[in-house]
Amino acid sequence: LTSTSHLHLSPPPLTSISHLHLLLPTTKLFIDGKFVESKTSEWIDIHNPATNEVVSRVPKATQEEMRAAALSCSRAFPSWADTSILSRQQIFLRYQQLIKDNIKELAGLITLEQGKTLADAEGDVFRGLQVVEHTCSVTSLMLGETLPSITKDMDTYTYRLPIGVCAGIAPFNFPAMIPLWMFPMGLVCGNTYLMKPSERVPGCTMLLAKLLQDAGLPDGTLNIIHGQHAAVNFICDDPAIKAISFVGSNQAGEYIYQRGSHNGKRVQSNMGAKNHGVVMPDANKENTLNQLVGAAFGAAGQRCMALSTAVLVGEARAWLPQLVERSRALRVNAGDQPGADVGPLISPQAKARVSALIQSGVDQGASLLLDGRNVQVKGYENGNFVGPTILGNVTPEMTCYTEEIFGPVLVVLEVDNLDDAIAMINKNPYGNGTAIFTNNGATARKFTHEVDVGQVGINVPIPVPLPMFSFTGSRGSFRGDTNFYGKQGIQFYTQIKTVTSQWKAEDATITSPAVSMPT
Ligand code: NAD
Repeated sequence: LTSTSHLHLSPPPLTSISHLHLLLPTTKLFIDGKFVESKTSEWIDIHNPATNEVVSRVPKATQEEMRAAALSCSRAFPSWADTSILSRQQIFLRYQQLIKDNIKELAGLITLEQGKTLADAEGDVFRGLQVVEHTCSVTSLMLGETLPSITKDMDTYTYRLPIGVCAGIAPFNFPAMIPLWMFPMGLVCGNTYLMKPSERVPGCTMLLAKLLQDAGLPDGTLNIIHGQHAAVNFICDDPAIKAISFVGSNQAGEYIYQRGSHNGKRVQSNMGAKNHGVVMPDANKENTLNQLVGAAFGAAGQRCMALSTAVLVGEARAWLPQLVERSRALRVNAGDQPGADVGPLISPQAKARVSALIQSGVDQGASLLLDGRNVQVKGYENGNFVGPTILGNVTPEMTCYTEEIFGPVLVVLEVDNLDDAIAMINKNPYGNGTAIFTNNGATARKFTHEVDVGQVGINVPIPVPLPMFSFTGSRGSFRGDTNFYGKQGIQFYTQIKTVTSQWKAEDATITSPAVSMPT
């Protein structure tokens, strides 16, 4: 936690003068059950994206601190793996209640450090909470398999067992949900866990760790380090760590997948996206327009499942002016202000990058139908705001189409028929999510079966699966072979032991050695 965690919610006005910096709250490391101040000399400022004021500092943990955290995980592993599954379940039953009780405070931390609106921040916590609730079914989820009498007097059964120390590396855009995809699933299976939250939004993870400690998690079972590349390299290289869960950009994800795999670790790596929403002319127009606008601009487009690319098919082209008008009506404001629909981007660099990508579209021949670049938010003139932006007449060669923008920008392409829409999506390097809007079952079925994308929505704009399923992703959006949460998540965090046993009646004696393979 921070030394004065209440300051997280009402930060003092600060300048960048260095002696004032020293008064800032600091994010602690969580090592061996204690929230400790880092001894590092390297700190990263955390800004409120709505004002760009520095609200706290996060350390780049030293090598010694990271080693201490990993060692704590290793030491805690044998007794945690041996803790009865019912006791582990009880801790997570208490944990889910504590998250519910503290949802407002968690959401407040998210809005302060990440910028999204308070309502959306509560949704962020809620979707992570659902994964925690799911972990409470561990007694069913971890069931093994048995096959009796595979031959005379012989039975085979499998156990699902933890694999050891696991680690998670999280992105900035879902400060609650994505860490909650990681450590609860890993821990409930009997692993110990080393977590590295995004250095831009660590506050929420720290409170989540405190709540898990309050729920009864033993010391050393969960450790938290902070930092950037050095922390990531430590996780990829430390021999005690057996598995890495990563969510973030392709640049980091490909690197972590390669480095971690090279060192013999399991790695699941969820990465970037370019999600297409295909609008068929037979769709329910009112619903489709509202769903598209919400999914394109919610969280200021900083969702890996944001519907950032609209594909208007045939006569649905005529809906474009209404799409623009509805998008224009969204209210851009600081996330903690009443009525805010679209909050700020995470940083001035993100704002500059998004603005440059909008300009690239204009330069390459797209039509700028709605331009949010110069939006002014009264009282928050220094915030990283970009208003809803729509680029029409976009073609697949344009940079605004090939790059993940990760901002409140909807690019609109037009095609003549469903086959062309499917071909376009399958040619795009990413395969995270997609949606089709239609009232025709045969159209929806064809789309579902032919599109090569992990998550498909039919009249559902952001089809993030509930935790009894798994969050998937194909092609450039995922590396690894077992996905996050659901049955796949349990597989990722467990290994199988297969036991074959033979209990013969006493009079059934083996009379000679069997030197050939049994047939
Ligand atoms: P990011 O890759 O910059 O950061 C993610 C994590 O990796 C952080 O903890 C960071 O410290 C670390 N990191 C950053 N750069 C690194 C590098 N070069 N080498 C090693 N480690 C590095 O991602 P972000 O900006 O925090 O998050 C946004 C990205 O995450 C978007 O691309 C978005 O699509 C993706 N995302 C994907 C999913 C999914 O499930 N597919 C979900 C959420 C976000």
